[in-house]
Amino acid sequence: MTQTIPATLISGDGIGPEIMSSVTTVMKALDAPFVWEHHAAGMGALEAEGTPLPESTLDSLRRTGLALKGPLTTPVGTGFRSINVTLRQQFGLYANLRPTKTIVPGGRFENVDLVVVRENIEGLYAAMEHYLPVGDDPEAVAYGAGFNTRAECNRIVRFAFEYAVANNRKKVTLVHKANILKILSGIFLHEGRRVAAEYEGRIAVEERIVDACAMELVIKPENYDVIVTTNLFGDILSDLAAGLVGGLGMAPGANIGEKVAVFEAVHGSAPDIAGKGVANPLALMMAGSMMLAHVGRQDLSGRLDMAIEQVVTSGGIRTRDLGGTATTQDVTQALLQAIQ
Ligand code: NAD
Repeated sequence: MTQTIPATLISGDGIGPEIMSSVTTVMKALDAPFVWEHHAAGMGALEAEGTPLPESTLDSLRRTGLALKGPLTTPVGTGFRSINVTLRQQFGLYANLRPTKTIVPGGRFENVDLVVVRENIEGLYAAMEHYLPVGDDPEAVAYGAGFNTRAECNRIVRFAFEYAVANNRKKVTLVHKANILKILSGIFLHEGRRVAAEYEGRIAVEERIVDACAMELVIKPENYDVIVTTNLFGDILSDLAAGLVGGLGMAPGANIGEKVAVFEAVHGSAPDIAGKGVANPLALMMAGSMMLAHVGRQDLSGRLDMAIEQVVTSGGIRTRDLGGTATTQDVTQALLQAIQ
């Protein structure tokens, strides 16, 4: 009998329940090992339980150490922090992993296959910002600070190199802005070089200043394999990379810590199309595939990836965001056929 693995499942808001239902249906057909613990978060949880991140959801995550999460609508003007940021901080989800691969043909680029590894808890997202008064204007100057620790820079670069080794990748690019931010970004580059030296002869290393990297990514994305960078740069570059291969509907992500890993689609709750049955479930499906690989079920992950590729290429089954007319249900059915 296959070993079962308890996992927290958060359907989320907007299109969340529609795409999550597609993923759990396909996971079941694949005979995936997950036993889902259903929990709420986001707007739905706020309305039902008075908080966007109930303690029962956090407890489940502490117990399972593993979650598949649908998109969450961030309540505006309620004083609540972003749930995604809270989860990252609370569980020390220090690595954000964003694979980007050309799957849909006829896009801007045919040969993109890269992974952005973004440091997820430090940098300029530490939200240490305030105004400074000048004269009678109390908000004359906006001041913000960030921090990067040597230990965290070391850990994230090591994560990227270990990922490269485990996934048969050939090169890691350290992306920085140490020419200007000599200390804040310098510590990342310095630590990155130290870690890279340990992998000499096994994984190639390159360095790029972030602006040059952005330009090169839109001209020759096939030059990149694994990119590792600090929080803000990683946020921007990973969305840029998603845009190279068909947009947010095809972009999965993982937030990984020492004890907990949360898998999700990169896109939001898409309120404009919620309830219409036309959302693309593939980003969340690919997040599910990453989750299978994370628990050592590369066999199932590979089958799911192949099915996804087959459905959108030879099958030609594509939702509106990919230029097609298929519904969420059409994609689910096509995937079920493809994995048989
Ligand atoms: P969004 O990603 O929800 O939508 C942007 C555009 O992309 C919309 O036109 C939408 O219809 C389209 N889109 C997104 N996902 C799609 C899919 N799977 N299939 C087809 N089309 C899709 O971004 P937004 O409108 O800026 O944000 C809406 C809400 O989601 C906000 O409350 C925001 O805070 C939240 N959000 C959550 C997450 C998360 O939970 N990880 C990420 C981003 C935004």
